[in-house]
Amino acid sequence: MGGSTEREAPAGDATPAAILRTSSLTPDALVVTVPGIGPTTANRLADVSVTSVFELAAFFPRRYRALRELEAPDESAIGELVRMQGEVRSVSMQWLPGRRSMVTVTFACADSSTFQAAFFNQPWLKKSYTAGQHRTLEGTLLKKGKRFVISAAKVLPQGAVADGEVQLRYPEVEGISSPRLQKWIAHVLDELDWNLVTLPALPSGLEEMSLSPRELLLAMHRPKNVEQHEQARRHFAIREAIKLFEAVERARRARAQRPAATFAVDPEMAERILARVPFELTAAQDAAVQTLWLKLAGPGAMGVLLQGDVGTGKTAVAIAAGLAVCRKDGMVAFLAPTELLAEQHYTTVSGWLKGSGVEVALCTASHRRKLPRKGPRIVFGTHALIAGDVEMPGLGLVVVDEQHRFGVNQRMKLVNKGENPHVLVMTATPIPRTQALVSFGDLDVVTLAARPPGREAVRAFHLPTEKWARAMRSIARAVKREGRVFVVCPAVGQEGEKGGVVRVHEALQKKFRCALVHGRIKQSERQRALALFREGIVDVLVGTTVLEVGVDVPEATLIVVVGADRFGIATLHQLRGRVGRGRRRGMALLCGPRTERVAAICATTDGFELAERDLALRGSGELLGTQQSGFQELLALDPVEDLDVLRRVREAVRNQDPQ
Ligand code: ADP
Ligand code: MG
Repeated sequence: MGGSTEREAPAGDATPAAILRTSSLTPDALVVTVPGIGPTTANRLADVSVTSVFELAAFFPRRYRALRELEAPDESAIGELVRMQGEVRSVSMQWLPGRRSMVTVTFACADSSTFQAAFFNQPWLKKSYTAGQHRTLEGTLLKKGKRFVISAAKVLPQGAVADGEVQLRYPEVEGISSPRLQKWIAHVLDELDWNLVTLPALPSGLEEMSLSPRELLLAMHRPKNVEQHEQARRHFAIREAIKLFEAVERARRARAQRPAATFAVDPEMAERILARVPFELTAAQDAAVQTLWLKLAGPGAMGVLLQGDVGTGKTAVAIAAGLAVCRKDGMVAFLAPTELLAEQHYTTVSGWLKGSGVEVALCTASHRRKLPRKGPRIVFGTHALIAGDVEMPGLGLVVVDEQHRFGVNQRMKLVNKGENPHVLVMTATPIPRTQALVSFGDLDVVTLAARPPGREAVRAFHLPTEKWARAMRSIARAVKREGRVFVVCPAVGQEGEKGGVVRVHEALQKKFRCALVHGRIKQSERQRALALFREGIVDVLVGTTVLEVGVDVPEATLIVVVGADRFGIATLHQLRGRVGRGRRRGMALLCGPRTERVAAICATTDGFELAERDLALRGSGELLGTQQSGFQELLALDPVEDLDVLRRVREAVRNQDPQ
């Protein structure tokens, strides 16, 4: 926001200009009524859920951390967001491995101290800086060795007025530049017929604002100061939280208020069920199973979130619960996030239940047979299970594995296929408290705190890219000891692209017996690759993150992650959970630059500690980054800062009378 732009007149403004101007925009009109917005742009806006004029006015920018204005780099400001001016001293460019480039610009401040800014993969920038130019930069101040560096620097256009006190940034909309977006929003704010704008009443227990909708919206886009913006932001945060919790509350009510089938387990049946699991349950698993059995015996439908770190043995707990349902001819639907995982569960559990009379079936996009329609059965599947035409007579229990990939609404689609079935959601991804509230607010939490014996946490070690030879030696060593090795790469990669999984596979194939899996490989071949690996016909499985969730090969002792800096904390933690599942201890090697995320994974094996670290590192911009998490469309609510808002709104929504 330019500090010099005209600010809004107060509501009820009666200047001659305002009276003469007839407001031309109605809030419910489509965005194409805004001058300059055509059908193509309207489609792009629809992607971010903006279709009406009002929604455009409610497309809020976020405030970012206050900037510190510095005359010169200062030790005390390291790690903070700063703004500095400097004169360009020198510009250099370097090519990095993988056709990446880095342009480094050195600036001198008035007191002749210097700082640098690095720009990656924009080689053309080399030409846009010439010695002697004055530029203003914003970014995080860091110190590398003896030099000060501004990281993730934003360079203000030459001659631009620096932002005022409140730093606002609009969310990116694909295909629309920020200045254009801001122009349209400004137009809407100026031309909207505010008499027609009303905001729905809040549930009781949440305080209404004395400000008008116009004042609130203007405070979001053109605040005079941080306090004014914060006040309006909190108000809209409450409104967003209401939307989030209404879905949660619908799920909770649906379960609590309708009759549900009960499945009691007597001691004899308990013994028969546990005999089907090919190992002794740990005390933690046993306690969880007992809790689930009690809840299945009623009253009402069970809704449980089973939380346990990677490798704590959640599958066996779910199957023990499922078998209680199967004893009464019920059906269990087991939703997995990937085909690979669905197939693997299907294979494992088929083995456990051979000759038991319980039918085990699989339903994925590439494996859609007719499902058995009656009798005791467990159906494993992916999204394909949710599809409308899949019927599930007798559905007694829905299990959702690795829930972080599914939102409340997807879960509900499956639940609605039955007559109020019981629900068990399982997750290993450490969930920050805020997400737990929103995604699982309708569920009771059961935690698996301990791991099965001999399955220790997997430590991770960092390996700089240039030490790749060491990774090769570690792989060779693991293979020599008859361990299996996963090698994970960030992308499939075009033929010949460096770093791509195909290339890495080619390189490793010269030395080891390898198989390859990634998203573009046919499912039958993927399955074959996995089988070869599982049976030890190949020792090294190279793949993309399709390997991430749940692949269970007990002989795997080493996982090497290429380009580890490109993965998030949750993914890295999941990946290391792929090894050390057998008798021998596992290890993870993270190759690439040592980022803070990589360092965090190396520093601790505690998933819950990592979850909070993750959130702290990412800030609140994107939480967990999944499409369905429900946080994607938040504009005002800050899932980190607004924990108290979430709690209050949850209370209010809970106590509200159902409409
Ligand atoms: P997660 O909680 O990550 O889903 P899994 O259910 O896949 O974990 O279990 C991890 C591994 O530990 C599997 O190989 C499983 O067979 C094994 N396992 C689970 N429980 C036990 C147990 N009580 N004793 C021995 N091995 C177990
Ligand atoms: Mg699992």
